[in-house]
Amino acid sequence: MLNTWNLAPRQIKLPYGKVETPQPTGAFAPKKLSVREFSGGTVDYSENMIVFTTLPPMNLDATLDDEPNNWTECILAGPVKRRILSTPGFPRSVEKTAGGKVNHRVRASPFGGLGVFATRPIRTGDLIVAERPLLISPRGFEMRVESKGLTQAERIQVTMQEWEERLDVAVKRMTDENRKVFMALANSHTEDRSGPIQGIVRTNGYRVPGLYDGHEGDNTRAYTAVMNVMSRINHSCSPNTCHRFEMASLSFELRAIRDIRQGEELFYSYCDIFRTKIERAEELAPYGIVCACPACVGATKETDLLRSELAKRVEKIQADHHVWMKDQSRPNVLAASLKLIAEIEKEGLSGAPSFTSLLGMVANVYVESDNMNSAMKYLDQFNNHCRA
Ligand SMILES: [Zn+2]
Repeated sequence: MLNTWNLAPRQIKLPYGKVETPQPTGAFAPKKLSVREFSGGTVDYSENMIVFTTLPPMNLDATLDDEPNNWTECILAGPVKRRILSTPGFPRSVEKTAGGKVNHRVRASPFGGLGVFATRPIRTGDLIVAERPLLISPRGFEMRVESKGLTQAERIQVTMQEWEERLDVAVKRMTDENRKVFMALANSHTEDRSGPIQGIVRTNGYRVPGLYDGHEGDNTRAYTAVMNVMSRINHSCSPNTCHRFEMASLSFELRAIRDIRQGEELFYSYCDIFRTKIERAEELAPYGIVCACPACVGATKETDLLRSELAKRVEKIQADHHVWMKDQSRPNVLAASLKLIAEIEKEGLSGAPSFTSLLGMVANVYVESDNMNSAMKYLDQFNNHCRA
């Protein structure tokens, strides 16, 4: 099923918060959707087509018993569907957790609303859950209505109405079970004129790494994914999980970036955690989040500096380490690395790639100093972080 409509060449800035703009009236009704049906395996679409498709392709009347890995409803540029279908191994099974165990539970969060909690201790690097999204849709929408007689805010409003209609098509195509789960997700965009489905997408969407139209790095032509479990994970500026997307299985994997206790809430960060508290707050505002995580509540000039200058500090230690590796009569970086490791752990930033580098350097210094017990301890941690 497809629609001949160009995907976004640029992303419009969607409004958030309470929007008072009146609904546009008169001549500017949203453009009606015109569609044609194609078989699920069709891939010879032109560049300017968007496609409503179920991936992996689904047989009529199939149920979750036929496909326990579930299906994803997608709104994609035609060439992107082609790229997914031609990914080697597609559709690979979704990765299973160790022993096939369920490691998470959704329940009320002390931060309000629902959250996801660990039901058993989880080690750094372990897979917590892997799932196919309920929906994948473009992240940015093209403003296609003529500007004559409309303000910018009204044009955005008409575009949003048109996209609500398209999202509605995708949601109607979901299995009853998936649609019910999708529509039960949180919506923090109830006052900015987002439609109910767009509100859910904006509240719960994850950017899909590696999936884009055109050039990589062009944010305006990226895709967003809404998921059953992972979309219920709350934000923290000191997250304990990270995620990645695997195209071959069309799934997201959530892993622990530090050891997680049984009963602990799972968090990931919706913002760049290597920014100051004020910068993070600005980035989170469009999500309707006023962050009250311990890092924001306890933020100081020092913690802001630690975050914003972490990469630079680790680079400096790395440079010193390289010098020491060539000439071990010079001071090693053990003390500086251990001090920074402690600061990072205290601030809850152990998911940082630079943290893994520090662990590697400490292990390295211990190996060179023949302290194998300590070396193994840090090597073990280093390996676990590499799995995350
Ligand atoms: Zn925070």
